[in-house]
Amino acid sequence: MMIVMQPGAGEAEVEAVRERLAATGVHVVVMPGELTTAIGAIGDPEGVVELGLEGMAGVDRVVPISRPYKLASSELSHHEPSRFQIAGREVGGGDTFCLIAGPCTVESAGQTLEVAEAVRAGGASMLRGGAYKPRTSPFAFKGLGGAALEILAQAREASGLPVVTELLDAGHAEAVGAVADVVQIGARNMQNYALLEVAGRLGKPVLLKRGLSSSLDELLMAADYILKEGTEEVILCERGIRTFETATRFTLDLGAVPWLKMHTHLPVVVDPSHAAGDRRLVEPMSRAAAAIGADGIIVEVHQDPDHARCDGPQSLHATDFAAYARDVAAHAALLGKRLA
Ligand code: PEP
Ligand code: MN
Repeated sequence: MMIVMQPGAGEAEVEAVRERLAATGVHVVVMPGELTTAIGAIGDPEGVVELGLEGMAGVDRVVPISRPYKLASSELSHHEPSRFQIAGREVGGGDTFCLIAGPCTVESAGQTLEVAEAVRAGGASMLRGGAYKPRTSPFAFKGLGGAALEILAQAREASGLPVVTELLDAGHAEAVGAVADVVQIGARNMQNYALLEVAGRLGKPVLLKRGLSSSLDELLMAADYILKEGTEEVILCERGIRTFETATRFTLDLGAVPWLKMHTHLPVVVDPSHAAGDRRLVEPMSRAAAAIGADGIIVEVHQDPDHARCDGPQSLHATDFAAYARDVAAHAALLGKRLA
């Protein structure tokens, strides 16, 4: 439910409503606006109605929030798209496009620093790289772990690019949180609710990937798990879903981008690499993502994809990155966005 205060309502009146709601155990979010303050009360709508808040001083009206996701919804508080900075790099807001690029997995310092330099020079605003990798087979390479985090810190130092890396296990939260500028939650963990809460408490922006078989409502409710911990900086990522089609690795749901733009204030990026599974498809899919209104792209790049330890076939050659970035930027420019 949303409690809309009267334009003249004072702090004490807002506080009285907040306290009354909090006492019932609902999650309360106070959203001061230019003219009026709105107070979101999440959970137990019938209980909130029974409180009869309309009778309290300063209250204008009590209105239901119709969507199952609350904090991520543009209905509750934000009518404008969210915009924030990550180490000075703009994300969201409708006029910038962020290119996040780098290897699937950190394999060595040499490999990571070389790719970082190539993507920086090509116009990327952030570096991606996996330290802890979720692998379908338990016998596959699972990343260098802590050693990879150190390499990512070095790569950030050398390139100046903020680092995006995945949090796979709550046990690594402190170590990942210490290095990551953006904490990635992988598709396989989108519904690992305990992990989402841990990520939300790290005080870092979170890049939340859509689950392979998750609906967009489920994605936004997963975002609510992170947002309710106090982090306001959540980036959603469409990375392809499971369908009957097997020609591509996953099916990129491009329609998700404008749908999400209609229903949430959070920035939306697209991962063409995991959706495609084939580098030849990555550039055309990236163009489409930029032209349909994504706020950015997260793409895999390797200096020697044929010898990559993970996801080589879908990784762009580092030497091709600058031309790729120019092409994507031209498509983002169709919607008035410039590279962050
Ligand atoms: C990744 O970004 O390297 C990754 C494993 O992606 P996803 O979780 O989307 O499969
Ligand atoms: Mn990968």
